[in-house]
Amino acid sequence: MTVKILLVEDTDTQLKFLRDGLVEQGFEVETATNGSEAYKKVYAYAPDIVVSDIKMPAIDGYQLCRMLKNTEETKKIPIILLTVLENKIDSFWGKKSGAQLFLSKSIDIKELATNINSTVRRYPVSEEYKQELKAKNNADNSAQFRLNTILNDLLLKSVFSNEFRNLSDFLNYERILVEKLFLLLSSFVEYHVAGIYFASPDDFAENIMYIDTLGRNLSKNMLSDVSYDFFRKMEEQKSLKNTKFEVVRMLLGKELDYEFGDLSSKIIIPFVFDKKLIGGICFYTRQDIDYSSFRYFDIMISELLTIFKMKYQYTEKEFMSVLDGLTGLYNRRQFEIGLEQEVNRTKRHPSDFSLAILDIDFFKKVNDTYGHQYGDYVLKTVANLMKQSFRKTDLLYRYGGEELVMIMPETNIEGAVIPVQRLRRMVEDYDFEYNGVKAKVTVSIGLTMNYQNMNSSADILKSADEALYKAKEGGRNRVVLYEQ
Ligand code: GH3
Ligand code: MG
Ligand code: MG
Repeated sequence: MTVKILLVEDTDTQLKFLRDGLVEQGFEVETATNGSEAYKKVYAYAPDIVVSDIKMPAIDGYQLCRMLKNTEETKKIPIILLTVLENKIDSFWGKKSGAQLFLSKSIDIKELATNINSTVRRYPVSEEYKQELKAKNNADNSAQFRLNTILNDLLLKSVFSNEFRNLSDFLNYERILVEKLFLLLSSFVEYHVAGIYFASPDDFAENIMYIDTLGRNLSKNMLSDVSYDFFRKMEEQKSLKNTKFEVVRMLLGKELDYEFGDLSSKIIIPFVFDKKLIGGICFYTRQDIDYSSFRYFDIMISELLTIFKMKYQYTEKEFMSVLDGLTGLYNRRQFEIGLEQEVNRTKRHPSDFSLAILDIDFFKKVNDTYGHQYGDYVLKTVANLMKQSFRKTDLLYRYGGEELVMIMPETNIEGAVIPVQRLRRMVEDYDFEYNGVKAKVTVSIGLTMNYQNMNSSADILKSADEALYKAKEGGRNRVVLYEQ
């Protein structure tokens, strides 16, 4: 029986040359000049083999190959891909695409014929299979429909994956990452309440669960029920200490008319990597929804896992290091160690030390107006001004996102207020400029010292926090001293 070839080639002269040559060699040849035409003709003619050029506009040979190999009724048809250059990337994709053979376009016709014959012999397509394929085509002219579905699906999947990958820019801005994740997830997952939790390599770090309520105002009970439910599941993976939850993106004013028991559908997914719990995510709804039947569920999970992995590795790196990467100041862990040491030291050898916390005013607005890079620049600059403003013996740290702290050993609060005020003024006077964009920025600072009645580092930190809060409340751009 004559071997029927579907020959796919976008250049007219090439197509004619190959077709004539192959006909001369005794093959029956159907032709197509692009990938989508080829896909339809596979249904119409049910060929024994597809011989396709790789470089074609729109759908190329690789894509055609993937489409045919991913469809049940066409996947058994062998495919030979032809290419001009035998470079590495071509042979890589050639293999990935599922083609049976990969040949240079400059091969002579006789040799091509030999290869076609041996491929057809190795991968014979039964008459029955071909009839079924043709029947599919005749039944509902579905080739076009299938083609569209596949193309839409491929496009959707790649857009979908891309959306997730874009989030990796925000690995070091946890809150922004969380906000963006919720925004993305809420655009295609139905939920009333969703939660995200990033585990930390630091066993003593607080476990924060971010909860998205889509702008609804949830009762405290509801939030603790959700977080309890979620963390109970997480605990099956790891024993968690210091569990606390936080709500992100919550608008006030809309009261909620349902309780935890009304959330009838839920899914809680722990992310585990390297036998470690690296985080988790959950969705709750009031309707009956089977989340796992969601069309792109698997892709979503694998993309999320990637983000969680990157986030964990990033945090691990930060945790292991001593200095903060952005500002060059000591990081939060060092601060915790440093403060503890200072408290212990002054207990043994009574002396004063002061502690200040600085928070940039309206920093969110800086980010929103000028972008995060600008925000990073501002933060770095404030840190540099801080370095200029203090003594070598003072200890400077990046405490949180845009919060910097200073420990001033052997300094009481009256002494400490001098460099602290100087820093505040330096920031106020500084002309920030980055990529030609100018801005003015101010900071608020809370200042305290190790008063007699303060017994722990937590007490001292709390008093500095209170002073900072007053500075914000009092109108910002100011230093407030903690009052006993
Ligand atoms: P306030 O005057 O009350 O402090 O207002 P604020 O906008 O500064 O509010 P808040 O301190 O709560 O917000 C801090 C924001 O800083 C949140 C986050 O978007 C941003 N941020 C935190 N860390 C970083 C960082 O490393 N780089 C940048 N660019 N932004 C950060
Ligand atoms: Mg802040
Ligand atoms: Mg701030």
